Amino acid sequence: MESIAIAGMGRSIISRRALSGDFARTLPEKYNPFMENLGTPAAAALNPSFIIARKRDGAELTRDEINCMISGFTAGTIPDYQISAWAMAIFLRGMSPGETAILTDSMLRSGTLITKPPGAVWVDKHSTGGIGDKVSLLLAPLLACCELQVPMISGRGLGATGGTLDKLESIPGFRTDLSIDELQRITARVGCVISGASEEIAPADKRLYALRDVTATVASIPLITASIMSKKLAENLSALTLDVKYGSGAFMKRIEDAERLATSLVETGKRMGVQTSALITDMNQPLGRMVGNAVEVDETITALQGQGPADLLEVTLALGAELMVLTGRAVSHTDAKSQLLIHVTSGRALQKLAEMVEAQGGDLWAPRAVAPRQWIASRRSGFVQCIDTEKLGQIVIELGGGRRFVSDKIDHSVGLEMLVRIGDRVSVNQPLVHVFANSEASRGVHGVLDSAIVIGDAEVGPPTMIVRRIE
Ligand code: URA
Repeated sequence: MESIAIAGMGRSIISRRALSGDFARTLPEKYNPFMENLGTPAAAALNPSFIIARKRDGAELTRDEINCMISGFTAGTIPDYQISAWAMAIFLRGMSPGETAILTDSMLRSGTLITKPPGAVWVDKHSTGGIGDKVSLLLAPLLACCELQVPMISGRGLGATGGTLDKLESIPGFRTDLSIDELQRITARVGCVISGASEEIAPADKRLYALRDVTATVASIPLITASIMSKKLAENLSALTLDVKYGSGAFMKRIEDAERLATSLVETGKRMGVQTSALITDMNQPLGRMVGNAVEVDETITALQGQGPADLLEVTLALGAELMVLTGRAVSHTDAKSQLLIHVTSGRALQKLAEMVEAQGGDLWAPRAVAPRQWIASRRSGFVQCIDTEKLGQIVIELGGGRRFVSDKIDHSVGLEMLVRIGDRVSVNQPLVHVFANSEASRGVHGVLDSAIVIGDAEVGPPTMIVRRIE
């Protein structure tokens, strides 16, 4: 990249190619007239409006500039309107991999880094979110059985996708609001924990995400990368794997976008010294059969008893194998998968999940309510062509299983059970989906459900679950 140093600004570099507009064209090589008005060169370089302008014009920001914006935002000295303008400039102009890693580091350092005991190997998985995605519930105990420790900080539903914390809260007594101290202690004692991010973890991300949400700046690869990675890397990990989903139920509908995000996440992890890999996985239909909260915990138990759906086990083992290989616990992905499977067959992984639940105040064996069951049937015979998976997530929200407003209380007992998958042959009147519902709202969703599952004459093959690996 062709760059020029601005007079008196040792560390501030502007890419001439990236600059545009009248100001850029008239900017003298060695002299910036704005500098005089902004006081000393150093002070001028760290003036928020100047930093916003540089990003607006396509420049590559320095570490000092990015740190200035994030530390000022965290301290309350840079107002929301300037950070919103900066986020929009980043949205429009992008960030280089180096800038993205610095932004991640700066957001991570706005809060606390969790302390890892000497010698412990901490690992984690992050998913970009999907419908029926309960992998974390299986994977954390499985890895803990393999002498890896998982201090997993997880989230709530985003858009139509369900949240791991919401699913776990269907277990009576389960706490997702652990302090950092509790998280550290349970990780060391049990080997795994799944909790929400406390206020101390990357607080800059929490505030920035709230602004992005209302300023149309969520869908930016560098901003998404810094948001995800600042929270994950605050866990002081040795290795991280990312499940980047694509398809009709994913945040990224197109495989190319999922690949761009996965590459950015992996590159950022590596730049920050953490062994990182990513899998691009299919989200063109729910993962497993169950979608909801209590029903997904039930399906997790069935899967850890060795009787779960094949796609759920395939994705779980593939992600687990990534971490086993990255940390040297296994010599190959095949070796890793067989080590993990032993703990399914022996029942140890299920015991470990129960132990984790108990350490977090819950009882995995206490009854969980599941709402009364209805079903919808196919109006015609043929093959399942495709599924509007996001619509299924919206139906669960409509039934009360997710939030329309932040303040909404979740009904953990509602959900769906998918009885068919893409490529299945169906006959007329064959049940397609079980609906677990408590209210009249369920009547309204039948038509929507019917339109979400497209049946046609063409034979179609099942989608490939793991599309690509990025390391
Ligand atoms: N998930 C996050 O944590 N942050 C984003 O920006 C998008 C998804």
